[in-house]
Amino acid sequence: MLDTIKSMDEQFVLPTYARQDIAFVSGENARLKDTEGKEYIDFTSGIGVVSVGHGNPVVTKAICEQVGRITHISNLYRIEPQAECARRIVERSGYDMKCFFGNSGAEANEGAIKIARKYGEVDGQVKRYKIITLEHSFHGRTITALKATGQEAMHNYFGPFPDGFVYAKSIDEIEGLIDDHTVAVMIELVQGEGGVQPLDREKVQALAAMLKAKDVLLMVDEVQTGIYRTGEFLASNLYGIEPDVITLAKGVGGGVPIGVVMTAKKDIFAPGDHGSTFGGNYLSTAAANAVLDVLEAYKESGKLDEAFLYFETELKKLFEEYRGLFTDAVGFGMMRGLRAKDADTLARVIAKAREEGVLVLKAGRNTLRFLPPLTISREEMDEGFTRLRRALAAL
Ligand SMILES: *Cc1c(COP(=O)(O)O)cnc(C)c1O
Repeated sequence: MLDTIKSMDEQFVLPTYARQDIAFVSGENARLKDTEGKEYIDFTSGIGVVSVGHGNPVVTKAICEQVGRITHISNLYRIEPQAECARRIVERSGYDMKCFFGNSGAEANEGAIKIARKYGEVDGQVKRYKIITLEHSFHGRTITALKATGQEAMHNYFGPFPDGFVYAKSIDEIEGLIDDHTVAVMIELVQGEGGVQPLDREKVQALAAMLKAKDVLLMVDEVQTGIYRTGEFLASNLYGIEPDVITLAKGVGGGVPIGVVMTAKKDIFAPGDHGSTFGGNYLSTAAANAVLDVLEAYKESGKLDEAFLYFETELKKLFEEYRGLFTDAVGFGMMRGLRAKDADTLARVIAKAREEGVLVLKAGRNTLRFLPPLTISREEMDEGFTRLRRALAAL
């Protein structure tokens, strides 16, 4: 079966991914089964997407019930689960904002960039359009989100790009880069793809205050950090800031594509300024509402914080045991990394872990990245760390 899948994939799908030769057929919370019947512990949750675990019964039921009634009817009409989803996200965030729904992280960030560009347009004045982002950032793969991404290596081939993106080497450099044309700063509070690198909380708070004073928008890309991944509903809550724009995607729909841009500039768009055919349809927002049901209850019961503490404790133990392979333990909540001593070690760890039946990710700065489902059980964590230890011991 795997061979058939592989040959079709190689013949008909563009080779944009360096795929591993595994195909999964089913999953239950943090456990997965492949075509050969081998079982894995999933410390990746589909890159932070399947936040409520594989085959979550609450989300499955909500999706099935919704598609049995109505799946999609376009944004020309009022959509109950979309309105409900917006209300819940806004209320949970604690920010006075409104939402727009798209289908991915990149699309959410495109929305954020459009908000900034429109905000910079004030009649009779020089337009402000520049957006400052950070080196090692990741904001998505569309042409504009790619240009916003502060990784020069990703800018080969695809130019010319939209103008107006400026990269700061670190948060300390941002203020010095602001000029009369700067309209926004876009940051991840914990850089995900860039290596699970959290920004310093005090520095972020000082940045937020400085930007407010200069009327430059603070836009936080929470595509990876959002919806309890770092412990709070949003990483912005954890950092104690009030951004002007926040984007969400990965964990929101439990595997159903959805992206959200939310902003305190509630009057920025008029009808026709922005849109999306699929964005916020019945399917994706019903799924998101079910994900929120599951995670809100999990957080309120104290189980989420318990699981976070256990995962952190176990990961730190493993880090201490293998100081020969790793130089640092980084991250928050269920978004964590171990910095490998070099790229070769990282590749060998990931391959060996897979052999032993545990899935882990890589990220920038030679980071072994962990993004387990937020609902991962203690048994699943134990099993995953046991397998990972077996893999590390074999290196
Ligand atoms: C994954 C990611 C994106 C891109 O999301 P897509 O859904 O792949 O477009 C953007 N920003 C951050 C921080 C991400 O982690």
